[in-house]
Amino acid sequence: MNAGAGLLRAIDEPSPAELGPDFTGMLERLGGPAILRVAGRDRRRCRLVVTLLHGNEPSGAAAVHAWLRERRVPPAVDAAFVIASVSAALLAPRFTHRLLPGTRDLNRCFLGPFDDASGELAAAILAAIEAARPECVVDIHNNTGRNPPYAIGTGLDRPRLRLAALFAHRYIHSELRIGSLMEAAATAPCITVECGRAGDPESVGVAQRGIERLLASDDIEAIPADGLDILHSMVRVRARDGLRLAVSDARHPDADLTVTHDIDRHNFERLAADTVLGWVEPEAGWPVEAHDATGRDRSRDLFYVDGDGHLRARGSWIPIMMTTDPVIARQDCLFYVVEPLTHPT
Ligand SMILES: [Zn+2]
Repeated sequence: MNAGAGLLRAIDEPSPAELGPDFTGMLERLGGPAILRVAGRDRRRCRLVVTLLHGNEPSGAAAVHAWLRERRVPPAVDAAFVIASVSAALLAPRFTHRLLPGTRDLNRCFLGPFDDASGELAAAILAAIEAARPECVVDIHNNTGRNPPYAIGTGLDRPRLRLAALFAHRYIHSELRIGSLMEAAATAPCITVECGRAGDPESVGVAQRGIERLLASDDIEAIPADGLDILHSMVRVRARDGLRLAVSDARHPDADLTVTHDIDRHNFERLAADTVLGWVEPEAGWPVEAHDATGRDRSRDLFYVDGDGHLRARGSWIPIMMTTDPVIARQDCLFYVVEPLTHPT
């Protein structure tokens, strides 16, 4: 294995003792980032699952643990599981830290720079993928708002759509460059799966059923990619840097921008024009930015602030990944805006 992959502890054919009774026990035994490998019927091929890039998104690790504990027959091909932010996940209170305090968001580090702790781990994961030469890569996450399961990828090609169909009925085509794994894993088709909310047993079920299908199939090219709703990701909406942000059912007295507390019920719905999304303090100035894949700020095409300080939707559009977690909203973004793709190429 490439020297850069040394940050990942490699465990071949993990035993029940190494896995522990539950996935928390598995993470305690791992103690840090790891790659778990299982031999398949066809040793010439490999499929690779990455999860726990974010420490507060444990459903993928729980599903990997369940798959490893419950499997009775070898997978169709070799399987490898990268479990990444184990330290952030185990930091008390457990599964509440997206990243270790003082570090960069690991899933924003895959395009470099690679010279700090998160960058080095990102480089080690890329090196492990390169060494494994997988025929596909699936990166499993949770999100914090109410969303159905969906997959995201950088292309509209059949291999990515097939992978998406293993896990979800919705696929987001994204050309945004934010440094996530799927943008950097160039040697094999790679998708991100958002399997639902952390802590919801159904999210583990989505991940586990998807992993089971991924690893049981002799030929992933035989998986049908039909019936997916395909959406195109347009922009990433963030609060402007330095704004005081709150989530509430009324204007918060100490916030520059208050986001409505039930904003996430609109995920994957077409918002009616003029929908109220929050409140803005008059002195705070323009509250949001919304960059598209070309880097252009589209926020004034998508929002306006009315005379009473309401932040409203300009026109009708579809938000996804709206979060009501102010920490995530500040660390990452408020939501993305997508459009249905009517003519997939
Ligand atoms: Zn995530």
